[in-house]
Amino acid sequence: MANPLTQDVLVDPVVLTRTLIDIESVSRDEKLIADCVEDVLRQIPYLSTQRHGNTVMARTALGRDQRVVLAGHLDTVPLNENFPSTVVDDLIYGCGASDMKSGVALALHLAATLPDPGYDITYLFYESEEIESHLNGLHLVSQAYPEWLLADFAVLLEPTYGVVEAGCQGTMRVRVRTRGRRAHTARAWRGVNAIHAAGEILQRLTDYRPRTVTIDGCTFREGLNAVAIHGGVAGNVVPDECTVEVNLRFAPDRTEKQALAHVHEVFHGFELEVTDSAPGALPGLSAAAARDFLTAVGEEPSAKLGWTDVSRFAALGIPALNYGPGDPLLAHAQDEHVEIGKIRDGAATLHRWLAAY
Ligand SMILES: [Zn+2]
Repeated sequence: MANPLTQDVLVDPVVLTRTLIDIESVSRDEKLIADCVEDVLRQIPYLSTQRHGNTVMARTALGRDQRVVLAGHLDTVPLNENFPSTVVDDLIYGCGASDMKSGVALALHLAATLPDPGYDITYLFYESEEIESHLNGLHLVSQAYPEWLLADFAVLLEPTYGVVEAGCQGTMRVRVRTRGRRAHTARAWRGVNAIHAAGEILQRLTDYRPRTVTIDGCTFREGLNAVAIHGGVAGNVVPDECTVEVNLRFAPDRTEKQALAHVHEVFHGFELEVTDSAPGALPGLSAAAARDFLTAVGEEPSAKLGWTDVSRFAALGIPALNYGPGDPLLAHAQDEHVEIGKIRDGAATLHRWLAAY
């Protein structure tokens, strides 16, 4: 098959968005799109290109003072009768239109059209962001080639509808467990009901008042919620165990350790088991390249409330933020689409930032 990412396509980020949507790339099936992207990047003389699995990295080596990363994942969630792309007025519809083929298109367009940027740039196009984190291309690169990620600042082109979303909240899932003693319900006084005991856990969740924290002008709203409850043995047995699974979303001024201490405090007296944990990321807007970027965008940043790969960069001490043309509310939706105007605005903003030298 001839590579659809031709020169004519690369110079226009809107056409490029459609072309990328039309290369199917559901998670774990990214070989074709990675082949196409790698092939294009290898033909660009001012970039040196390497590949690890279905993750492609290309970078300049111009000897600039600072290096920035532009990154985007190549995979999408499963198709949902939204493939290939269609255009209605100024909207491009299709799987991945918002999350995040339009963001990938911006990075690839810049890679192909910016021979002389003001910063050295590392472009990262990675696999398997939409599935389990041990398969995530950025995670795999951080294990195999951590030097690929080194930079002074990183922009992830995830959907933000053209605003800057800085930092991200951490997340932790914890099982809060009660124990009792089994008995026949006909002789219930011989047992201790673990489901009844869980009432206290739910009461503490109901009474909980989450914090709102402002850092670097970004407001993070925390949350503590029950997301599942398990218990019960049979219709005639007093249950001896009940677990309430709780998810804490925490502002990045808390470390994972502090977040866990907080959960212990809230559920004092109960048995806890952590099942999942990922740190947040501070906005990091004081870095020089980040300030220049904000000037180019010309708008105030807001806080990222979900967990994103920016925290992988933060863990390496690299300030990172999200900025992309897609609407995050449309990500993973059947009618996922992106506004052509947002793609053009995003391309213009990134050009303004990166070409200013
Ligand atoms: Zn995404």
